[in-house]
Amino acid sequence: MTTIVAETKEPPSSSSQAPSLRERICEVLKPTQEQWDDWKWHFRNRFNTVDKLAKVLPLTESQKRQLKLVSLKFPFSITPYYLSLIRTGDPYDPILLQSVPSFEELLNTDMGQPDPLHERVDSPVPGLVHRYPDRALFVITDICPLLCRHCTRKREWEGESWWIRTKPQLEAAIDYLRKTTAIRDVIISGGDPLTVDNAGLEWVLAQLRSISHIEIIRFGTRFPVVLPQRIDEGFCRIIDKYGPVWLNTHFNHPNEVTPEAARAVRELLRAGVPVNNQTVLLRGINDSVEIQLALSHALLKNRVRPYYLFHGDEVSGTEHLRTPVETGLKIIEGMRGHTSGLGVPTYVVDVAGGGGKIPLQPNYVLSWSEDEITLRNFEWKTFHYRNPRPTGPRPISVLAGV
Ligand code: SF4
Repeated sequence: MTTIVAETKEPPSSSSQAPSLRERICEVLKPTQEQWDDWKWHFRNRFNTVDKLAKVLPLTESQKRQLKLVSLKFPFSITPYYLSLIRTGDPYDPILLQSVPSFEELLNTDMGQPDPLHERVDSPVPGLVHRYPDRALFVITDICPLLCRHCTRKREWEGESWWIRTKPQLEAAIDYLRKTTAIRDVIISGGDPLTVDNAGLEWVLAQLRSISHIEIIRFGTRFPVVLPQRIDEGFCRIIDKYGPVWLNTHFNHPNEVTPEAARAVRELLRAGVPVNNQTVLLRGINDSVEIQLALSHALLKNRVRPYYLFHGDEVSGTEHLRTPVETGLKIIEGMRGHTSGLGVPTYVVDVAGGGGKIPLQPNYVLSWSEDEITLRNFEWKTFHYRNPRPTGPRPISVLAGV
């Protein structure tokens, strides 16, 4: 086994002589290539204390004090892989801002809520959120390899009491799904459900597949972004076996679309799994048309569909990362017409109080009458569109009665 020689994919830092962050991480952790390619190694070696982080990032004493203070309330955890994507020397780096705590998390906490989406209220049994009539969210763990600073479920980090649901808890949730025949679509979520090993996931998938009214199974996971090594042969084999399985992931910035992430996506597609992306709109990270277009194009090149652009939820400890709603609308306005419809995600606000996702888009309808709609296009050119008023009976085939 050989220790990894620096094989960095990041731009050189300010001094071309200075080691890259990936080199520094490898100097400290000394992984072999085999270990670097193994998701369990990354998971075990997560950076989750200030002292460990200070071994690879040049933190001042004041920065260390601030980080320690924030992480008492909101802990952090960063995989070596994801940390290696940070461009050192740039305080606005999008990977840094999503992964390393900021003192602002402790400010304005009264402006958010621990559970704005009322997931706990909408849980008929622990671990199952049933809000929409035909689908349910199956939360099988609260563990994530990366603790994203904008996370909607930050409340779960309290006291760092990490859990994976026990078999009796999973069985209770599956029993509810079995009895609720209206549910045709189940999203396996977390935390991040892929922190559960392949044997555990296979058990869950087999149980869900034994319920005849469940047509679609989806995974909600950020592993392809923060620890793409997790998408291994074993995982692809089981999702192929229990298909149709879809996977929603969570790229927020084009810098996250690395060769490693692209490989993970390729493997998922080969296993017959459509991959959709759910971006969260984040202030200072991806709140511009240019970044969102670059992200969409990077995703489309890898056959990932930009599915949703979520407005940042009203979560305690995330106010500094939220933007005005107008920002999201302006982004969609700037994307529509400037790239294909495939590249424009649906912008949604998940309203506090458990009202669910509400889609928002710029207004293209200038006026409306019974016979005519006045529309404007992406260039603000105005068009009058005849509004069809069908008359006569419903169309019938000439082959009627054959
Ligand atoms: S992966 Fe998802 S659930 Fe986990 S910390 Fe990030 S946003 Fe939260």
